Amino acid sequence: MKSQSSLKHCYRLLLVLLLTLPGSVAYAHDRNLLIAAARVFDGYTLRSDAAVLISEGKVVRIDSREAFNDSDAPRLELGDATLLPGFIELHAHLSYQHVPADTVLRHGITTVRDVGGPLHQPYGGDGSLRLMTSGPIITAPAGYPISNLGETDIAMPVADAQQARQAVRKLVAGGAVVIKVALEPGGEAGAPWSGGHTHAHSHAPHSKTHDKPRSWPMLAPAVLAAIVDEAHLLGRRVAAHLAEPKGAQLALDAGVDEWAHAPCDSLPDAQLQRAAAQQVRIVGTIDTLSKCPGVSSNVRRLAELGAEFLYGAEIAHPDIPWGIDGQELLYLQHLAGMAPLDVLRTATAKAGQYLNVPLLGSLLPGAPADLIAVRGDPTQKLKLLEYPDLVMSGGKLIINYFEN
Ligand SMILES: [Zn+2]
Repeated sequence: MKSQSSLKHCYRLLLVLLLTLPGSVAYAHDRNLLIAAARVFDGYTLRSDAAVLISEGKVVRIDSREAFNDSDAPRLELGDATLLPGFIELHAHLSYQHVPADTVLRHGITTVRDVGGPLHQPYGGDGSLRLMTSGPIITAPAGYPISNLGETDIAMPVADAQQARQAVRKLVAGGAVVIKVALEPGGEAGAPWSGGHTHAHSHAPHSKTHDKPRSWPMLAPAVLAAIVDEAHLLGRRVAAHLAEPKGAQLALDAGVDEWAHAPCDSLPDAQLQRAAAQQVRIVGTIDTLSKCPGVSSNVRRLAELGAEFLYGAEIAHPDIPWGIDGQELLYLQHLAGMAPLDVLRTATAKAGQYLNVPLLGSLLPGAPADLIAVRGDPTQKLKLLEYPDLVMSGGKLIINYFEN
């Protein structure tokens, strides 16, 4: 009996050793794993001294540490650390700008929604970055971003309502999870696409960002209305690139669901009020647009009016880290006036619900085992989230720098 139990002990030690090797991926995907930490944020609330049991790529149970005392699952003890769901970035251009998906994953983003780039069905989430896309941006002939890039496969120009509906159907059939439109006349001071600053879209060889006075063509109201109607018929939201009052007016009149940026120019209060009343979701990209004079006042006022913000930092923009952007989180806290826990909810469970993927962005039973851990308490210091020491995707360990 004694030798059997010491053999078992040896086996456990070996397992613990394998599990705790820095960067080790020795943990078998189909086996149980218990991860315990001083704090666990489950996408909604922060629990103390809790643990998450993972099996076959999913969370099967979340409970207090003691509740798992009898569990024989291998245990990864993180100590004074915080376990959270992997973050969800809602405004990126990974594929178009060739940002390595693995780098983004290692830095805490486990799901990306690309909004402007090659179209494909959603994929990943099983040890690789989960990637969803809008495909190309629908715009007016010669409209933004064709205005900057020339003919490009990241834009789909439409001239009338019939072409608009066809474009939406084609995108949805190809896997688009959202329809992106551009409503951009150009010329906003401080905007990356205005040429004073390099935009993610402007690295292409045909970039013409130094052209001066602009009035780029925009979608006609009837064409935009057709896009919104067709997208809604097919169960997709419409997200608009807009940055100033003309684009905002078009979007509000057509019932566009989401603004892909906080607007760059200061908008009239009536438009901000309408946006809040129509429950338009605002993807911040506040860090990317930090040189725009109107962004802070728009964000403060929209927050005051109760508008809902979503986390998107525009990964692939030259200023933005290839992972969680601590600065964007801080802007949500200080400009949008969100409590740190609300900031965390926005980038996790709220985003998962918005993407209609059941339980994505949470650590509740049944959720995909996409999780990250950082040392310390990120509700005291959001910047810590830029430095995850553990990342798991679909139950597969991607990095693990914790040592037991
Ligand atoms: Zn963008």
